[in-house]
Amino acid sequence: MISELPFTIDSFYKLVGEGKLMGARCKSCGRFLVPPRPVCPDCYGSDMEWVELKGEGVVESYTIIHIAPPQFAQEAPYVVALVRLDEGVRLPGRLVGVKQEELKVGMRVKVEFVGPSTDAWPAWPTYRFRPISP
Ligand SMILES: [Zn+2]
Repeated sequence: MISELPFTIDSFYKLVGEGKLMGARCKSCGRFLVPPRPVCPDCYGSDMEWVELKGEGVVESYTIIHIAPPQFAQEAPYVVALVRLDEGVRLPGRLVGVKQEELKVGMRVKVEFVGPSTDAWPAWPTYRFRPISP
């Protein structure tokens, strides 16, 4: 049961592995926390509930990574975007499926899920963003 999972990064990635983008919502003040945290940074409340996010939003800013950490070196250059989800929270992630010259702040993107690769790293399932075709 989702409701029994602790509000941690581990839980967040476990749910990503099930194809769900979930955040925590503070029941005291309504703030969304993605990835979830057990304690609200605004009101210090710890009464949280899981909320599934639609996974769509707009690119707020982006960076092109040319010098990547060793495990990603062969994929460089790649794009990391900060996406403001429709629910109002920001989530950073890889942005794929767009040419660098077509990158735009404000473009709409949707989350997609990537299973754990068979390589040693990363062993966790993850998510990335892809533009929504107009
Ligand atoms: Zn709160």
